[in-house]
Amino acid sequence: MKILVLNAGSSSQKSCLYDIADETLPIHPPDPIWQGTIDWTHQTGVAEVVVETAKETVEQKIPFEDRSTVVESMLATVWSGPTQVIENPSEIDAVGHRVVHGGQNYHDSVRITPEVKETIAQLAELAPVHNPANLQGIEATEAILGDVPQVAVFDTAFHAQMPNAAATYPGTYEWVEKGLRRYGFHGTSHQYCAERAAELLQQNLQDLKLITCHLGNGASLAAIRNGRSIDTTMGFTPLDGLMMGSRSGAVDPSILIHLLRHEGYDADKLDHLLNKESGLLGISGVSNDLRQVQAAINEGNPRAQLALDIYIHRLRACIGSMLASLGGLDALIFTAGVGENAANVRAAACEPFKFLGLKLDSQKNADRPRDQIISTPDSSISVLVIHTQEDWAIVRDCWKLLKNQ
Ligand code: AMP
Repeated sequence: MKILVLNAGSSSQKSCLYDIADETLPIHPPDPIWQGTIDWTHQTGVAEVVVETAKETVEQKIPFEDRSTVVESMLATVWSGPTQVIENPSEIDAVGHRVVHGGQNYHDSVRITPEVKETIAQLAELAPVHNPANLQGIEATEAILGDVPQVAVFDTAFHAQMPNAAATYPGTYEWVEKGLRRYGFHGTSHQYCAERAAELLQQNLQDLKLITCHLGNGASLAAIRNGRSIDTTMGFTPLDGLMMGSRSGAVDPSILIHLLRHEGYDADKLDHLLNKESGLLGISGVSNDLRQVQAAINEGNPRAQLALDIYIHRLRACIGSMLASLGGLDALIFTAGVGENAANVRAAACEPFKFLGLKLDSQKNADRPRDQIISTPDSSISVLVIHTQEDWAIVRDCWKLLKNQ
């Protein structure tokens, strides 16, 4: 069975094709047989496309007027040219799409129908950058592959059954009625990491209390019990919670009122400030990339040091909050760019939980771990580093859904 995955973001479009045996799929993925990435940020009106197979890597810069044509020409390299891996597009059995916002409508992945497309379009109000890009991918697939089964895998679905107390903001009851609630994001990653952690710990996921820390350019935590998210740090949008690369995370809302009243801000300017100019970038003045912030710290830059100190403080505080929601903890899991690579961040995040008997193995933590337990055997809480595999999680959801139809 051949399943294509499309993962469309604001600045990039990642795709991959898996050829899988028609049996129970493992949690950990095999290598895809084809991968394509489009970088939209390279130069205005020019897309940088990189396509890779086991034998070939082809890089191209394509001038474009609308994004769909670039997506279509990238997909055509699956069955034509030097990166061809199949004879005919009809060999593709299903296509899975990462869709950022499923609102309150979807608790699980769904087969895409005209109604599902309509809902994704309506939810663009809540995810103005991502949902339209996701829909574009769905439509580009339809244009090329006709009525191949397509599946939407929502970033919000894993959190959709959070208890009301965790999901509801304490504004007015009108907010509840209007759907102004905590949705949570990175669900596919949190769910994959939880399943992979249970496998590495050789325990049943249903029996575990877990905190997954997805620390990338965007960052969120999830508290997971009985295999479902019961609390998370991102909220109505992916701006809430932790300090991130260029996003502020949670701030006192009165600061925004102050900026509106006294500093000449309007909604668009505030949006830009909080999403693009804040976080590690805003405080350090150096970069949204932790590696560069770290390099500036090594050169004695005090603002870079303050940025990292806030990042760690917020991370620890939010882990504490997830811990309280769970009422216990079996494992703490780190994933994504920072979580998988920054040993100092992991060590600092674990430090205040030593009093609970959490013991990190400093050697394992420093040794570039990947899908490994990095706590000591006698630690009361296991600590793991897991390489997140969102695309594979999408393949598994497609496969499960289509098998059951
Ligand atoms: P992601 O969004 O998961 O791709 O993560 C991207 C972010 O991970 C980058 O902006 C960096 O801040 C961070 N990152 C990647 N590699 C490293 C590293 N070796 N050390 C520290 N941070 C890293």
